[in-house]
Amino acid sequence: MSRFLNINNSHEVAEFQTELDLKCPVCDKLFRGNIHMCPKGHNICHNCVSKINSNHCPVCRVVLDPEARNRGLERVVAIIPERCKYESFGCSAIRKNGIEAHEANCDHRIVDCPLGLDRCSTPESPLTFGNLMSHIEMTHRTFMAKAHVGEGYSRFDAPAKSFEDPSVLIFPGALYGFNDNYFSSVAVKWGHWMYFWVYAITTRRKAESYDCILKFENKNNFLGRWSRDPVIPIDDSLFDVLNRGINCVTMPVGMAKERFWSEEEKRIAVYVIIKKTGQGTGIRPRKKAKT
Ligand SMILES: [Zn+2]
Ligand SMILES: [Zn+2]
Ligand SMILES: [Zn+2]
Ligand SMILES: [Zn+2]
Repeated sequence: MSRFLNINNSHEVAEFQTELDLKCPVCDKLFRGNIHMCPKGHNICHNCVSKINSNHCPVCRVVLDPEARNRGLERVVAIIPERCKYESFGCSAIRKNGIEAHEANCDHRIVDCPLGLDRCSTPESPLTFGNLMSHIEMTHRTFMAKAHVGEGYSRFDAPAKSFEDPSVLIFPGALYGFNDNYFSSVAVKWGHWMYFWVYAITTRRKAESYDCILKFENKNNFLGRWSRDPVIPIDDSLFDVLNRGINCVTMPVGMAKERFWSEEEKRIAVYVIIKKTGQGTGIRPRKKAKT
């Protein structure tokens, strides 16, 4: 290693970090922020300390003092630029501070394809945000047809037997384009429930500016039910969404089949409208009761 560290050289910084052993022994990630220290001198990152159930040092089992921190090492870590955690996926970004803000927007961050969810990538060849749209164009070409408009039908093809299938079933909907961003509707059957939501293929922050209106077409071809929800950032995984169950429409499988499934066409049709948050729906909001 050179005598003086060139902090703009990502390779040199990496070497320096390895040499000083600036990684948490529990999670093997580079230290960031608060660093806890056991009475015997083992350093553990804040994230790991907050996750352990006992108050024993995970390295030597000595009882930890939650107040004890290695402030000297915290200051050393604070002046070393950090590399983006998606480095192994091709990102060369390095920041003196605010690497988290970069990572949230990083083109090399790993996402699931909204039209295949976990099925379009493998741990060996994950899908990065920057490659997502070209993946969609190549693999799901038919979905691109309507991708220039901010509203239209999503037709979730569901053969009759899918309602009895005990596994998690994913039904891709349609791709929408609105304000230079793409959005994609998804329906998932999980256990006895159906979930419907709209993914925003953009950053978490930009996703906050959009809502979606889902109008469910019932069997007699008029809209049987509608809802307005925030769109969900593509960074939230399928199971994040299912576990939280918010910002999506949920209904029992029986109800979805009974009221909204077309037997002739073997599908559930939902009319989706992407809106800017706060933009009117044409439907007057219900008045709140006075308290
Ligand atoms: Zn850790
Ligand atoms: Zn220890
Ligand atoms: Zn990055
Ligand atoms: Zn895909």
